[in-house]
Amino acid sequence: MTPVKRRGEFELIAELFAPLSKGEPGAFALTDDAAALKPKPGHDIVLTTDAIVAGVHFLPDDPPATIAQKALRVNLSDIAAKGAKPRAYMLTAALPETSDDAWLKAFAEGLKHDQKKFGLTLIGGDTVATPGPLTLSVVAIGEVAQGRMLRRAHAKAGDDVWVTGTIGDAALGLRILRGDDLGLSERHRASLVARYRVPEPRVTAGQGILAIAHACLDVSDGLVADCGHMAKASKVGIELRTADIPLAAATQAAIANERANLTDLLTAGDDYELAFTAAPTDRARLTSLAAKLKIRFTRIGKVVKGKGVRVTAQDGAQLSLDRSGFTHF
Ligand SMILES: [Mg+2]
Repeated sequence: MTPVKRRGEFELIAELFAPLSKGEPGAFALTDDAAALKPKPGHDIVLTTDAIVAGVHFLPDDPPATIAQKALRVNLSDIAAKGAKPRAYMLTAALPETSDDAWLKAFAEGLKHDQKKFGLTLIGGDTVATPGPLTLSVVAIGEVAQGRMLRRAHAKAGDDVWVTGTIGDAALGLRILRGDDLGLSERHRASLVARYRVPEPRVTAGQGILAIAHACLDVSDGLVADCGHMAKASKVGIELRTADIPLAAATQAAIANERANLTDLLTAGDDYELAFTAAPTDRARLTSLAAKLKIRFTRIGKVVKGKGVRVTAQDGAQLSLDRSGFTHF
């Protein structure tokens, strides 16, 4: 890719981004070609990367600060799912001509806000110009006690399946941004749009369940699809009950209006909640952890011998997901 040629913009980026590296000496104030990180004693470095593209993962006219937050948070969600504590990140931004000074300043403010909220520091990256849509790629770096990183492959038959927060809100938020009001109040619409634009990575929950959960992943592709990924990696089956899926008040209202249906929400993406499994003997521990963290933890199913995901609907019908999507059987 061509580097950004507009000299003023290049300088502005240096001016805006260098302060974001403060606090991590190994970032060398973004003046070197690379950063150097030493993990805390007794810890492993956990690395993950995710890119977001305008028109695919966010809308081009979303506020620049929320675009910055989403770029960070989809990555922090993976750090959370590994039970790790966020530490640093690198950011590569492919900027179209429309990213002017005001846009960049607001974007950097969004980064700054979330760095403070989640306790991480910018340690490097790159900026290029693109004739295509705005694209942001983040490498997030976290730390976890040595050898303890949560895996998606460790679910055991007999485990409970839990999920944090609520499911389906972001998918409805996107529908609202595309012009469908879902018959909801302004307050409900705003809450769903916020869930789409600024997901809430469950970093405290991830660290809290580190010593309890057997398997964990973040729900980004849709609850059923991601449970399928966990089932496959763990060589087990997962049974979910739709009646137990946690739903926000706004989402319940959209379902009551018959403008949304639960089956679609189970397969929609962008939830950025954690799905994890744990022994039934840990129910009380998890319930008190959830209360302490003020995060909803809901038991939504069981890990069983076998394979795939089986979903029992409220009317008792069984739905199952195969590679092509839902099929009745
Ligand atoms: Mg993930």
